[in-house]
Amino acid sequence: MFDKNRALVNSIEGIDDKQKEFLYSALNIHGHACGGMPMGYVAGLAAMKALGIERELNMDTVAIVYAGNGHAVGCFVDGVQFSTGCTFGKGIMKREAKGKWQFMLVQKKTGKAVKVRIKNEVLDKVFAAPFITEYRAKGVNPADVPADVAIPGFKRPFLLNQEELLEIEGPFTVKLPKPKPCFGLVTCSVCGSTIAENYAHMEDGKPVCSDCTHYTS
Ligand SMILES: [Zn+2]
Ligand SMILES: [Zn+2]
Repeated sequence: MFDKNRALVNSIEGIDDKQKEFLYSALNIHGHACGGMPMGYVAGLAAMKALGIERELNMDTVAIVYAGNGHAVGCFVDGVQFSTGCTFGKGIMKREAKGKWQFMLVQKKTGKAVKVRIKNEVLDKVFAAPFITEYRAKGVNPADVPADVAIPGFKRPFLLNQEELLEIEGPFTVKLPKPKPCFGLVTCSVCGSTIAENYAHMEDGKPVCSDCTHYTS
């Protein structure tokens, strides 16, 4: 798998060695060659360029993706995560489910932001291509789609000009809510789980976790 993925990434043109290295990691972690992940990857690179920022190593940039659930879009979100470094685990990848192949990238300290969307025409073509119509829509898992169908889709986003693939709105300024970081721990009085203090519900004066609370939020 690693040799095959390395060869595929080495065949990509138009990105530098560093971007290739992250794309190689992205492909290994994503697990299969498809059109969605590289589309998100390229879109993430374009968003960072428009903001004049580098890949996020810490927690100073946030990506808010408008991808929904239950439709073909998860691969796109993975691409955005890998290129921008705005990962779910670091708490700087957020989802506002709207069923759109779009996201906003925000530099936290300045509030400078851009919105990136995949062009309608590109999505129309992707969804009319055999990868979707002949395989995915018929229940074939992405890793089982033949390479001669999957590979051209993987390469396509890198072959298009930015203007053909994306629309970028901004930079503009947004105000993000600033939650105070919580360092306190409490123990759920029902199940005994250790939980972050700001997630504790108080019932009869005792802390209770979200699974044990009688209240619904
Ligand atoms: Zn995929
Ligand atoms: Zn509990």
